[in-house]
Amino acid sequence: MPDRHARSARPSQTGENGVLPGLLEAPNRVAVLLPLPLDHPYDYKVPPGLDVRPGDIVLVPLGKRELTAVVWDPAEREPENSTSDVEADIVEDRLRPILRLCASPPMSPLLRRFVEWVADYTMAPQGAVLRMALSVPDALQAPKPSLAVRLPASREKNGEAADADIKWTAARRRVFEEAKDGVARSPADLALAGGVGASVVRGMVKIGLLEQVEVASPRRFETPDLDLPSPEFFGDQADAVQRLRASVQDGAFSVSLLDGVTGSGKTEVYLEAVAECLAAGRQALVLLPEIALSGQWLERFRRRFGVAPAQWHSDLTPAQRRDTWRSVAEGEARVVVGARSALFLPYGELGLIVVDEEHESAFKQEDVVCYHARDMAVVRARLGSFPIVLASATPSLETLTNVKSGRYGCLKLHKRHGGAELPSIELLDLRKDKPTRIEGLGQSWLAPSLRAAIAETLAQGQQAMLFLNRRGYAPLTLCRTCGHRLRCPHCTAWLVEHRGRSFSVEGEGPAGDLQCHHCGYRARRPECCLECGDSDSFAACGPGVERIAEEAAALFPDARRAVMASDTLTGPNAAAKMIQAVQDGEINLLIGTQVVAKGHHFPDLTLVGVVDADLGLFGGDLRASERSYQLLHQVAGRAGRAGRPGRVVLQTSDPDHPVMQALRSGDRDSFFEMESQMRQRSYLPPFGRLAALIISSPVEADADGFCRNLAKRAPGQEGIEILGPAPAPMALLRGRHRRRFLLKTRRDLSPQAVIREWTAGIRLPSRLRLQIDIDPYSFF
Ligand code: ADP
Ligand code: ZN
Ligand code: ZN
Repeated sequence: MPDRHARSARPSQTGENGVLPGLLEAPNRVAVLLPLPLDHPYDYKVPPGLDVRPGDIVLVPLGKRELTAVVWDPAEREPENSTSDVEADIVEDRLRPILRLCASPPMSPLLRRFVEWVADYTMAPQGAVLRMALSVPDALQAPKPSLAVRLPASREKNGEAADADIKWTAARRRVFEEAKDGVARSPADLALAGGVGASVVRGMVKIGLLEQVEVASPRRFETPDLDLPSPEFFGDQADAVQRLRASVQDGAFSVSLLDGVTGSGKTEVYLEAVAECLAAGRQALVLLPEIALSGQWLERFRRRFGVAPAQWHSDLTPAQRRDTWRSVAEGEARVVVGARSALFLPYGELGLIVVDEEHESAFKQEDVVCYHARDMAVVRARLGSFPIVLASATPSLETLTNVKSGRYGCLKLHKRHGGAELPSIELLDLRKDKPTRIEGLGQSWLAPSLRAAIAETLAQGQQAMLFLNRRGYAPLTLCRTCGHRLRCPHCTAWLVEHRGRSFSVEGEGPAGDLQCHHCGYRARRPECCLECGDSDSFAACGPGVERIAEEAAALFPDARRAVMASDTLTGPNAAAKMIQAVQDGEINLLIGTQVVAKGHHFPDLTLVGVVDADLGLFGGDLRASERSYQLLHQVAGRAGRAGRPGRVVLQTSDPDHPVMQALRSGDRDSFFEMESQMRQRSYLPPFGRLAALIISSPVEADADGFCRNLAKRAPGQEGIEILGPAPAPMALLRGRHRRRFLLKTRRDLSPQAVIREWTAGIRLPSRLRLQIDIDPYSFF
């Protein structure tokens, strides 16, 4: 769909070498890809004297704006036949010129091919993908040089005697002594060295005792130290290290699954692959699902390499983003650890990618460009001909299937490092072991035997953790008189009550702050029911993590409790502080949502209680079982990581469910085999392909009308199944009515091709949105 912004430019029609036929000598027009939702590059005129090549980053006009864009390669297609010389001239005349080249390293051919590949696969406009790769426009300008000061050369020889009329204070003399070596230093450094204030140095510059010089900015990222000792590796670990090192030395594309139980040393092992990659003079990228929670990981990295890696995530300041982007482009940053968007940084010499916790759904982006960072990382490695490592204790079914078929290699770590045992997992049947009511609190959510286990753990001076994957105090507020439920006016969702925003349970706020977790809508709980008018009739139904914290406060008043949920951790350092507090034993009862499940290593944590193990099993998600297994396994893996054995209690109303049975027995392989057969029978991923088309509009009838049209043209080939249109489970989201088609194809068919043909020539009415999600992971 052409974008209205692009009217001033024309789709690129250049031939080979980026030149119109007959104009081989002076390329006076080039294709330029703009970071806007446009499907292809547009032509711009090259002003005389400007030498531009594909990959160059340039400033171009568009309407009244100026945009940073990239000179693209000539389109492979032939120039259209109808374009006569005259027509070409006319077009030429209307072409607008490139304004200038930006002072930035060009975008590599590899990154350009990657942008095209991702756009093609996800069906997002090329320009929208480019935008992710040019996410820091500031970084594309030359950095300002810093000012330093030094002794003028004449003075170095003559010393202080030369100028009798200069007043030599003691402070100036000290600075002079420091500056005698002639080295340029920042004014702040020189002042510090001389033990004087900044004004002394400024004064000396003024009277010519010091001179100012421009120097390149100091290095922003230090080089990892490859001479530091690595841990000692034996058995499985040693094999894995050796094979990963070999694949890095090979320098060819390969995918290795590093499959090891929690605490088996996967991180230590893949850091050796990183070391090998650095030794070979290439850059390395480690993708983590949740970079905000990576404090312990960074510490580990620093221990291995003596320096911090470059980080890439949404909490960076604009200056940090700019510095990091540039340092990656210039090759100064050797290792990047980041969230999924780090995949689009301009590495010049990338030689290894590690995707840690590869099964995590946080790697799937569902906004603007819908892509799975793990899958696209594999593509980037293939395009760049280098190895990629996927690490997990509970690999995705997709990855396990690729291992089984031989496309991916597999390295197994069977045991926890240091002889720690895997925790024992017990199923607590809530139908038999019912939580009893608590005086003054009402309904309880912790069964007596779980309460006893917590009390015992705390009494032994160890730590316990309660896990419930639900933020807030109560997921539903209901009128006891008439049954009316409070819902969000903009979404198909209940309003969730929140009480405390702070770490401590004691700092709890007043009841009745209602929030929508989908659009951010907030309201106070009304005094009277909107349906029946009864007052004081609302009841909080079901537990959120804050409700569990309240119960824990009543049951264990002396425990050092803390709540950890994404909304109670505000600011980039909050998570790190909390994790440190648990590590230091300042907290001995941690209550949290899935942020506590991540790869933290708490040596004294020996009990994990899962409040509602059945929670993730509902809903129309094809991966519900797989994900529940992965999440619960990961939570369980927090227990007993050091010397003392760990114990995990799962509260469930369905202990016979295959997920519960697999967790209890620890038989991951049979569970995945069963899950795999089920998907195979119904051609679900990874045995078939899925794509979702979400149509949304503020006007319900518009969405329905468009869907009817689309349904009429639906393709009917063999091997294709189309479900819908149907209201999406979240039929109203942020005020937009949502309808959904689900396209299912055989593995050997391309859903992209089917969708292209299906939607070709269709015009989207204004205000209507069509979101295409290839390989969808959520089905709301
Ligand atoms: P995983 O990533 O598989 O959960 P980690 O890499 O976090 O496992 O290792 C768990 C703990 O064991 C960490 O504290 C780690 O430093 C330690 N560890 C693992 N392997 C070794 C080793 N070979 N030598 C020393 N310590 C190790
Ligand atoms: Zn009511
Ligand atoms: Zn809402």
